[in-house]
Amino acid sequence: MPIMPSAFFGHGSPMNTIARNAYTESWRRYAGTLPVPRAILAISAHWYTPGTWIGVARRPPTIHDFNSRFPPQLFEYVYPAQTDAELVERVIELAQPVAVKRDATSWGIDHGAYSILAHLVPNADIPVVMLSIDRTRPPRDHYELGARLAPLRGEGVLIMGSGNIVHNLELSDATPGAEPYIWARRFDELVHELLAAGDHAALVDYHRLGPDARLSVPTPEHYLPLLYTIGAQRAGQAVTPIVEGLDFRSGSMLSVSIAG
Ligand code: ZN
Repeated sequence: MPIMPSAFFGHGSPMNTIARNAYTESWRRYAGTLPVPRAILAISAHWYTPGTWIGVARRPPTIHDFNSRFPPQLFEYVYPAQTDAELVERVIELAQPVAVKRDATSWGIDHGAYSILAHLVPNADIPVVMLSIDRTRPPRDHYELGARLAPLRGEGVLIMGSGNIVHNLELSDATPGAEPYIWARRFDELVHELLAAGDHAALVDYHRLGPDARLSVPTPEHYLPLLYTIGAQRAGQAVTPIVEGLDFRSGSMLSVSIAG
């Protein structure tokens, strides 16, 4: 069985679920290069919880976790993937000593996951398992959990982190043609360079990367999925960009894949 990639996607606006643009086309092209995974383990910025939880519902509900200014079409969108019960148990086993708790009712597939999956697996015919991000744990713990999950890549599972490397909603600006903030561009480029250099220590300790990091990562939840992706990287495995760009002046769309 081929080693599946560990990938990170900058998901951006929930509208990317139903949009066709340069980002979504890149995700579709990327999907065309992949061996077909047995299942996808998704770590989304939008499932940010006390403790680590794993979705166990047989058919996880589609969670419309965005505000009412979005169009009805987005609220009607359904991503009908099933779960993979065997993968759920395997994640619980591999994660130890982290105690992963089973969630059957409170969450499902959120827009962080399905805005990507809508393009990666448009037929929803590959099982998806959602793993939450423990908001009480420091970055290193997320990186280490990603490392414990790395064996899944050899078992046909695509590990998919979904967030945004630069994510400052407060300063976001949808004015057409507005240039990205200089700090956003600098931090995006720095992370890109650190990924290419395999400097995981600097990526884990991102809060030490100065004022650009503080502006780009005002809260950790959109950055932390990247630490799962690189946690599952093995020596000699290169990081390949899927797409890059900055949306709304302060949102990085950088998406990368670590191949087997
Ligand atoms: Zn988001």
